[in-house]
Amino acid sequence: MLSADPLAAIPPPAERRLALRVTPAGQRALRTGHPWLFDQAITEQKGEGRPGDLAVIFDARRRFLAVGLYDPTSPIRVRVLQHGTPATIDRTWLCEKLAAAAAWRATLAESGTAAEGGTTGYRLVHGENDGLPGLVIDRYADVLVMKLYTAAWAPWLADLRAALAEVCPANCLVLRLSRDAQRRPEFLCGLDDGSVLVGALPDGAVRFSENGLRFEADVLRGQKTGFFFDQRDNRARAGKLAAGRRTLNVFAYTGGFSLYAARGGAPEVLSIDSSAPALAAAERNFALNRDLPAVAACRHTTLAADAFDALADLRRRGERFELVIVDPPAFAKREDEVAGALQSYGRLTELALGVLAPGGTLVMASCSSRVSAPDFFATVNRAAAQAGRPLREIDRTGHAIDHPIRFPEGAYLKCLFASVP
Ligand code: SAH
Repeated sequence: MLSADPLAAIPPPAERRLALRVTPAGQRALRTGHPWLFDQAITEQKGEGRPGDLAVIFDARRRFLAVGLYDPTSPIRVRVLQHGTPATIDRTWLCEKLAAAAAWRATLAESGTAAEGGTTGYRLVHGENDGLPGLVIDRYADVLVMKLYTAAWAPWLADLRAALAEVCPANCLVLRLSRDAQRRPEFLCGLDDGSVLVGALPDGAVRFSENGLRFEADVLRGQKTGFFFDQRDNRARAGKLAAGRRTLNVFAYTGGFSLYAARGGAPEVLSIDSSAPALAAAERNFALNRDLPAVAACRHTTLAADAFDALADLRRRGERFELVIVDPPAFAKREDEVAGALQSYGRLTELALGVLAPGGTLVMASCSSRVSAPDFFATVNRAAAQAGRPLREIDRTGHAIDHPIRFPEGAYLKCLFASVP
């Protein structure tokens, strides 16, 4: 009989582990617990491997340093699963990691239903920061979405699926693949971005709640895994600042910040995004929450446009808002893009202030991991001062609790709340 299991064709990782030795700098990084070993740090390698085979890393005196997933297709040659003491990496080990990740999110998992004000959509596994580098798992109520940032996880999918069924059961498990992972189809054995590994998901739209607000996300085609959970706390905070304020949400995606503003009492919200499908989802998300009087009373409009052009245009037309939220996509993925990214943050600050009424509140976020928090905050403040509207900072914040930070690159989200004269 033919097996319909999409994982059936994937070979398991090799029995034999590779052995690596590394430079002194590589050893130091691993001893501090860094999860990545770069190809240039490798001085000696015994054996060849496929993505996902296990590699053991030794120091100059042949002592165990770490074990991780080998990936010959990436400059991050090994993603470390365990530092310091040897471990058998198997289904049981994965269960332990998943249980620890789930325990960290217990307050969210136990927060109740939408009607109870609860949160049923959150990040269950945040890659490196949960000891599972290159792997993200988001929970959308009864649907889990697992995103691989490297093909090295492919040989482990059957074990991961079994471990999830044991530790964090769900009705449906969806696989998403990063662009890097998709680039190597020869290691994916027919798996696609959007393959369903458990259960069925006819159209990809899943419903979940966040702090009592109802949302729908397209987990098969949406950005990331379908929703940006990292902004949950910042959305809640923005919502508390929205009462009576005409609100502009720039880079709105599916209307996360917009809905919090509406519930918080904004009489009018304009959501701008370049993606028309995302804005259509924002409209549906408003419809899902019409039973909340403040959401029903809010006039929500959308504009599919480039944010830079739209802001300049709104300013020319004399439109003013008392709350402006700006949450752009990552502008810097590489080091040589950092200067350009800072320039864009400066320009966006200036444009946002151009439509911000006197005494209004500005919320500016950056999710570029390459841009440091001090550089981002300094750039926004400088641009505001140059525009003659120096900021009175209310708060500087980061990610929500389901995005723990366990290594420097894990601290990517920065958000500034400021009042502007
Ligand atoms: N604030 C959102 C997440 C924003 S993600 C939330 O809380 O869910 C960044 C968004 O910017 C994406 O929806 C993307 O479609 C949009 N985008 C990217 N470049 C853009 C541009 N030049 N103009 C307008 N929107 C853009």
